[in-house]
Amino acid sequence: MDRIWNGLADLVWPPVCPLTGARVAGHGLLSQPGWSALTFLDDPCCHTCGLPFAYPGASGSEARHACAPCLAKPPRYDGARAPLAYDDVSRGLVLGFKHGSRHELIDRFANWMELAAPDYLAQADALIPVPLHWRRLLARRYNQSALLARALSRRTGLPVWADVLLRRKPTPSQAGQSAGARRRNMAGAFRVTEPQRVAGKTLVLIDDVLTTGATANACARQLKRAGAKTVYLMTLCRVVRTSDATI
Ligand SMILES: [Zn+2]
Repeated sequence: MDRIWNGLADLVWPPVCPLTGARVAGHGLLSQPGWSALTFLDDPCCHTCGLPFAYPGASGSEARHACAPCLAKPPRYDGARAPLAYDDVSRGLVLGFKHGSRHELIDRFANWMELAAPDYLAQADALIPVPLHWRRLLARRYNQSALLARALSRRTGLPVWADVLLRRKPTPSQAGQSAGARRRNMAGAFRVTEPQRVAGKTLVLIDDVLTTGATANACARQLKRAGAKTVYLMTLCRVVRTSDATI
């Protein structure tokens, strides 16, 4: 029955590449030009935040180099990885995903995330999606971080703890704000509802894009205060500022 329904659905909504609009063999697939337009991140990168380095000297599995911002002010999370650079191409994927029309790609996204940080997942006790404030959740109807976490859970068998971290206040857009202003916006934004559940645990925060890290830092700070042993961050994309990668 599913196959008949899927066949009918393909006739009505033919599968197209979300980046180029070209017909593809099935939903959730990218065309060859769409695929090659994406920038996948790889080693060498900052051991902490995953920022790719422009030079090859830090390559190799034994290398544990940190970028200048991580050395100057280590983040509250213990490590961050993302499979994709956030650029004009991946922005199209994330916006379509955020606005609800491209959920068929989510298992592919989860697969890329899994490949970017298998060591985080191997150590993890649970996945924690970065929560939305309830008002934004009502407006958008779903939390894209929770969708990514559930897709990763299906692949790994790890539980999703969507209710241990609560967003207490809506946070304004961070765009164009200084680091200090971003931190102030985030102060008190999150609360751990069940500290006894996270105590001693290794947790993986899930979000769609890593930009400044202010949101993930605020989440990790609260989880660590509640006794979490290790907090990693996995996102689908991350902003890559080449100026940060030169040192
Ligand atoms: Zn770093």
